[in-house]
Amino acid sequence: MARLSKRQRKNIEKPFKLSVLDHQEIRENSYDWSSTNLKPLKDRIRKHYKKEQNGLCSYCKLPFRDVIQVEHMVPKGDLYGRSEFSFLPTNLSVACTSCNTKKSINNDMIPWDRTDYPKAGLFFKIIHPHYDPYLMHIEIVDKSRYTPKTVKGYNTIKRCKLYESNITEQLVKYMKYEDDPLIQGVLRIRELQGDLSNIKNKIDRFFSLLF
Ligand SMILES: [Zn+2]
Repeated sequence: MARLSKRQRKNIEKPFKLSVLDHQEIRENSYDWSSTNLKPLKDRIRKHYKKEQNGLCSYCKLPFRDVIQVEHMVPKGDLYGRSEFSFLPTNLSVACTSCNTKKSINNDMIPWDRTDYPKAGLFFKIIHPHYDPYLMHIEIVDKSRYTPKTVKGYNTIKRCKLYESNITEQLVKYMKYEDDPLIQGVLRIRELQGDLSNIKNKIDRFFSLLF
């Protein structure tokens, strides 16, 4: 069994805080996630969770490689999910394109149509990034595959197809460097916000050679 770094063990401790103005803007735009007026707010949410999750996807726990997407645990459309939860901070996290696309419009809330948002992980079929400690449910075996420890872990692996090669190949690469202080240090610098874009470009180039 491979151990996961501290970065990967952590789940979300601080949900994004919506201000009174944010709430007003969300109401004025009818909780519509696709509204262009709400783009600055969505960018702030994305930035918050990227930092809070240490630059790792909620479901595969791998560093982001391309686009970072805000993920809705309960989907945002009324057809499959609930629009009133679309800006609810505990319903949000960031995920990689692969996990977010595979999770898609699946609603894993139990029961799927309950009106109030649950405050605990037991009301979800898959790992909830705010409520469930990842490693209680999934173990990384031989530094190369996701193995379920619980039904919830099994459901998460199945939902995000964590057995597919696009993910497991990244996992092997990432685990190879998990104990390397240089690589881990540079990964942390890469996550720093602010006017580090120049350094960031260089570091991104460095990682594109590795991963
Ligand atoms: Zn992922």
